[in-house]
Amino acid sequence: MENSPGLIGLLPIALVIGVYLLVRFYRRWKEKKILVTPLPRDMIRCLEGSVPFYIALDLEAQERLRVKIKRFLAEKTFYGCAGLVITDDMQLIIAAEACLLILNQEGQIYPGLTSILVYPSTFVAKREELSEDGTRSVSSRDLLGESWDTGKVVLAWDAVAKGVADFADGNNVVLHEFAHQLDSSSGRANGAPPLSNNSYKNWARVLSANYEDLRLRSQRALPTVIDTYGATNPAEFFAVATETFFERPHELHHRRPELFEQLSIYYRLDPRDWAPREDP
Ligand SMILES: [Zn+2]
Repeated sequence: MENSPGLIGLLPIALVIGVYLLVRFYRRWKEKKILVTPLPRDMIRCLEGSVPFYIALDLEAQERLRVKIKRFLAEKTFYGCAGLVITDDMQLIIAAEACLLILNQEGQIYPGLTSILVYPSTFVAKREELSEDGTRSVSSRDLLGESWDTGKVVLAWDAVAKGVADFADGNNVVLHEFAHQLDSSSGRANGAPPLSNNSYKNWARVLSANYEDLRLRSQRALPTVIDTYGATNPAEFFAVATETFFERPHELHHRRPELFEQLSIYYRLDPRDWAPREDP
């Protein structure tokens, strides 16, 4: 009896389906394993000792954060650059701050992000720029952090360490770069991340008005709760406003209540619940 060409033809399809089911099963098994395996005791000690907001969260929020951290560490790859040996504690601190932004958000953990590159200190970013007359030039800038929409975040460790040591000064490079990651998940970073709870109309109105106000205050050198780097463009405004929202929530709420409300709806949390009051 001859083999049926129809059945042989189905073999590649069966193989593809089999591999797909196997990968799916493996992912589910891995996710379950992550959920049931507690974070090691020394990691919890590091969170308690080095991440100021962790200890201030209520127990349920701490548990949610630990689960997200475990998933983050399992899914993303860290690379030490320029000779930096990246330790477990360094990875944990970066993961904890990144996961604070998505503490109450559903879904995957920064699905577009694959790697975090960490330099010991300020790094030089070289860019090819095209001028209006068509000539190309290479510019270089010193940076503390950078977020790419190709799945990379780059950080300077000394800036990360400074940011986590003082979680009330409104400056935090990890919060900043991961806010860019959230923003660019809409396609490109433009100050409008995908919104599920906010009305787009209110978001656009409030964010635009606050951005324009910051630009004016920056030009006139007036004091402002949000760092004037946020006046660079709408994407930087969202990232810098995020730093202020998490690190100086009481003052942001007092000075810019509508902006605070939009960010609170977006992040689905209110950092005033755990943040100590800032100095007046
Ligand atoms: Zn930025």
